Amino acid sequence: MDFEKLYIDGQWIPGASGQFIEVENPATGEMFAKVPRGNAEDVDRAARAARRALPAWSALPLAERISLMEKFLTIFKSQEEDLIHITIKELGSPYAFTKASQVEYQYVRTRSYIDLSPKVPLVEKMEYSTTYREPVGVIGCITPWNYPLGQVIQKIVPALLMGNTVILKPSQHTPLSSYYLAEAFEKAGFPKGIFNLVTGRGSEVGNALSFHPLVDRISFTGSTSGGIAVGKKALESVKHISLELGGKSPYIILPSENHDYAEPIHLCFNSIFLNSGQTCTAFSRLLIPEEEKGIIEKQLVEIAKEYTVGDPTDHTVKLGPVSSRQQFEKISDYIQKGMDEGARLLTGGLPGSPSKGYYIRPTIFTDVKNDMTIAQDEIFGPVLCVITYKDEEDAVSIANDVRYGLNAGVYGPKEKAIAIAHRIQAGNVYINASPRDTAAPFGGYKESGIGREGGIYGMLEFTQQKALFDTGK
Ligand code: NAD
Repeated sequence: MDFEKLYIDGQWIPGASGQFIEVENPATGEMFAKVPRGNAEDVDRAARAARRALPAWSALPLAERISLMEKFLTIFKSQEEDLIHITIKELGSPYAFTKASQVEYQYVRTRSYIDLSPKVPLVEKMEYSTTYREPVGVIGCITPWNYPLGQVIQKIVPALLMGNTVILKPSQHTPLSSYYLAEAFEKAGFPKGIFNLVTGRGSEVGNALSFHPLVDRISFTGSTSGGIAVGKKALESVKHISLELGGKSPYIILPSENHDYAEPIHLCFNSIFLNSGQTCTAFSRLLIPEEEKGIIEKQLVEIAKEYTVGDPTDHTVKLGPVSSRQQFEKISDYIQKGMDEGARLLTGGLPGSPSKGYYIRPTIFTDVKNDMTIAQDEIFGPVLCVITYKDEEDAVSIANDVRYGLNAGVYGPKEKAIAIAHRIQAGNVYINASPRDTAAPFGGYKESGIGREGGIYGMLEFTQQKALFDTGK
C-alpha cells in the first residue's frame, strides 16, 4: 500500500504541499509510515471532483448503489488481516480487541446499512403534499483516531448509500486504515469522485473542508471542543452539520442481595479499560450504593487484575498502550489531578516516564466526588472514578450532573433499571448485559453531540427533505 498519495477523483496523486505527516506506533515510539500533509488546494480538488460526480451518483437507483456497496464489503472483508495489522500499528489496540471491535464489527455495521437502506422512508404522503428525501450533496467527513475504521464506516457507508459523495479526512494520528477503504472502493468499481481521501491536520484539511463552498454537510466525530470549532465554521455557509462528541458516562450498579458484583464490574471494565479507555461511550463514572462500598471496592481490585497491559501484538493482552505521547501526558496529568483533589487510588496510578511505548495501567479512583475535575472532564484513558450514592434519586442526580450525555448503563433488577434509564439524560442507556444493536440510533444529548448515526436514523441524516404540493389543478 502506498500511503504517500491522496485518493482524489479516482486517482492516487501526490499532495499539493509536498509535505508529509509521520505516523507513530505507540507501542514502540517508531515512526513507521508517512502520509501527505494535505492542504486547502487538495480539499478544493476533492470538492470539485465530488461535486462533478454527484448528479450521476445520486440519480443512480438505490439497487445499483447497493450492488456496488456489496462488492465493497466483499473486498473490505478480504482485507481483514491487513486491517488488523495496520490498526494495531497505528493505534496500539491489542490483537483480540482490534480483530473483534475495530475490524470485524465494521463488517456488521456495513451489512446493517446495506440491508436497511431499502427501508429508509424516502417518500412520505401527507394530506396535501408528498415529501421526498434527497441526498444532501458533498459530505465532508472528519474523524478521530480512537476507532479509525469504525468512525469512518459510520459516515461513509450511509452517506454513499443515500446518494451523496464523500471527502474523508481521517485523524492525522491514524490515517492508514482509511487507505484500505479507498482501495476497496476503487477495486469495487465505484465511479471516480464518489469517494475521496485527503489526509492531514484538522487545522488545515479539516478547516478547509468546513469552509469549502462546495461541501454541503460536515459530519464530524471528535472532541466537543473540536466539534464546536468545526460547527462554527460550517455554519458560516449554512452547511448541514452533525457532531458526535465526547462523553463522561455513568454506570449505575443497584444493590444486590447476594453481594456478587462480578458481572456488572466486568461490563463496566470492558467499557472503560478496553481500547485503553479511549472510547467515547466508556463508562468512566461508576456509581455504587453507599452501603455496598467496601464489598464492591474489594471486587473491583480483584477483577482489575484480569485486565493485563502489554504488547498489543500479543494475542492474550487486554490493554495496549494509549495512542500517543500527547494522550499519555494528558492522562498522567489527570491521574495526578485526582490524587491532588483527594480521590483515593484503589489500583493503578501514575505511569513512569515512557521509555518504549505509552503504557498506562487500569487506574481506579474511589472516594470521588462528582464535582472533582476527574469526575467531570473526559479523561479518555483507562481511569475509572468510583462515586457512592445514597438512594436512587441521588444516583440519577449524580448521573445527570455533567455536561455530557452520550451513554449510560444501569445494572440491577430489570424494571427498576429501566425506570432509572428513562430518567438519565443520555442518547444510549444499556440495561444489564444487553448487547449493542447496529440498527439503533447512536448519538448524544447535551454537549455530546447533534445528530444520530446507525441504522435508518443514521441514513436519514444524509438526506434532506423536499415537500411537493402536488394536489392542485
Ligand atoms: P479531535 O477533536 O482532536 O479530532 C477529531 C478530528 O477532527 C480529527 O480528524 C482532527 O484532525 C479534526 N479536527 C480537530 N480540530 C479541528 C478543527 N478546529 N477544525 C477542523 N478539524 C479539526 O478528537 P480526537 O482526539 O481525534 O478524538 C477523541 C475525541 O473523539 C473524544 O472526545 C471522543 O469522545 C470523541 N469521539 C466521539 C465519538 C462519538 O461517536 N460521539 C466517537 C469517537 C470519538
